[in-house]
Amino acid sequence: MSKLFIFLGPPGAGKGTQASQIAKNFNLAHISTGEMLREHVTNQTELGKKAKNLLDEGLLVPDDLVINMLVERLSHTDCKNGAILDGFPRTLGQAKSLQNISDDFPINKVFVFEADNEELIKRILLRGEVSGRSDDTEESIKVRLDVYNSDTAPLVNYYQEQQLVTTINAIGEIEDIYNAIALHFNNL
Ligand code: AMP
Repeated sequence: MSKLFIFLGPPGAGKGTQASQIAKNFNLAHISTGEMLREHVTNQTELGKKAKNLLDEGLLVPDDLVINMLVERLSHTDCKNGAILDGFPRTLGQAKSLQNISDDFPINKVFVFEADNEELIKRILLRGEVSGRSDDTEESIKVRLDVYNSDTAPLVNYYQEQQLVTTINAIGEIEDIYNAIALHFNNL
């Protein structure tokens, strides 16, 4: 049985940075649906062609496309011991589809990253300068934060009702935030 850990939070909260470190140190797969979609765009696959404009504008890719992509990814052998989902689910529909595969992939914990908008915008603009990500622009950031609040934030309640949520203060030193998250993995 492969445990799932969900990293939930607004863009720029540091989910990806933390997920990659935790995954490496606790022998879990790191699955970033955003990263997978960007690869599809780069490789100009059918999915990439459908997703490109949505990504650039900061809008969500339709649930069915992302869900199929994720379920396929979970069948890879590196997920045997479990996986961190970074950026999935982002809608109630996606969360419900995860529930459908919960016999094989039960959700162990949902880490909710918290940071204020001002800090998030600052971080994303800085990241954009370094990474050149086409959606790290001021225009797209505003849309992504709105989409987070309308479509994704309700998932916090959804998972709170299942007593799966652990809140992480995502402001501070990367190492301190890492330690706060790692505590929960040390105790597994
Ligand atoms: P991220 O790297 O997680 O910030 O994701 C970048 C972009 O990829 C998002 O703004 C969406 O356009 C798309 N994306 C990533 N994950 C999902 C998802 N679970 N559902 C829909 N769209 C997604």
